[in-house]
Amino acid sequence: MARFQVFSTKSYYRDALGGSTADTGVDLVFRAERLDADTAQSVVGVAGVCVGSQDLLDRSVIESLSSVGCRIIALRTAGFNNVDLDAAADRGMTVVRVPAYSPYAVAEHAVALLLALSRKLTLAHDRVRAFNFSLDGLVGFDLHGKTAGVIGTGRIGQITAQILKGFGMSVLASDPFPNPEWADSERIRYLPLDRLLAESEVVTLHAPLTSETTHLINRETLATMRRGALLVNVSRGALVDAPSVIGALESGQLGGAGLDVYEHEEGIFFEDLSTTGLHDDTLARLLTFPNVIITSHQAFLTHDALDEIARVTVTNMARLTSGESALPGTQLFPAAP
Ligand code: NAD
Repeated sequence: MARFQVFSTKSYYRDALGGSTADTGVDLVFRAERLDADTAQSVVGVAGVCVGSQDLLDRSVIESLSSVGCRIIALRTAGFNNVDLDAAADRGMTVVRVPAYSPYAVAEHAVALLLALSRKLTLAHDRVRAFNFSLDGLVGFDLHGKTAGVIGTGRIGQITAQILKGFGMSVLASDPFPNPEWADSERIRYLPLDRLLAESEVVTLHAPLTSETTHLINRETLATMRRGALLVNVSRGALVDAPSVIGALESGQLGGAGLDVYEHEEGIFFEDLSTTGLHDDTLARLLTFPNVIITSHQAFLTHDALDEIARVTVTNMARLTSGESALPGTQLFPAAP
């Protein structure tokens, strides 16, 4: 049996991954802890590790894993900014990921956040649960006929744009690598970022976190948006400068924010802090606004996406440990032939 230790295991990963190993020759050892310099010391007798976005695979962790014969790093995510690929290369380790599990899951969650904001659903839900059935203060607005700006038109951004077109919105897009054929066929208009921000009533972020996109939404760019516009971020927290968002919400420049990600989410999102409290004043302030909805990085969390993550991850574990190549397009290092 090829043994893998699975770090940062939550029940949903245990169910999905554990249910995919039958007849694969893969044996999974589930661990709740995050992989870091400390927990790496306890890894022994494994072909590889399976990790998520909160695990830290810096050079010291990779060297520690490599020294006990661990050869494979199987990321159950698309992003890999938490892995030192150079260190993995130096140690001759193989790194695989799940490049696209369900772009629909993430796009649909973005739209769920948007609808919750445009129709004040969280406020309405809180009210009826307290048997307050009045409608005062719950006036929303139609998405139909409004303008949405989609920043980043890769897999997830395109699907989000298409869903918004389905509502009858005009959709603008911004991307340094535009896809003109797709845009023409969907009647979507690419614009420079400043014009998109100035024209959109709804702005939704689907670009990756890079040096160019860090704090793409900041005090200056928020000031150029249409007054009262809604902002949705299901991409990466650091695309948005949260204190600037708070300022814009306070002044009414921003009409609401739907956030599935937060720059300093590590150690908060995915965890139950109901008995310890929240020690992040910015996030705590965001949670006080009635026109803010926050989910804890759950846009990916559908049965469909988890099944696909498990299928790709366990298949790669089985293939790599029996000398076969990884599934096409899933190997980060060494570069697949
Ligand atoms: P993708 O690589 O298919 O698309 C990203 C697009 O962003 C590309 O078209 C790229 O050209 C564009 N882009 C790059 N720099 C840009 C910039 N400065 N301005 C505008 N566009 C820019 O990626 P994807 O699969 O669509 O995923 C998008 C992001 O969604 C990921 O990077 C990840 O951060 C996030 N994500 C979040 C969750 C979640 O659960 N919340 C799950 C999966 C992915």
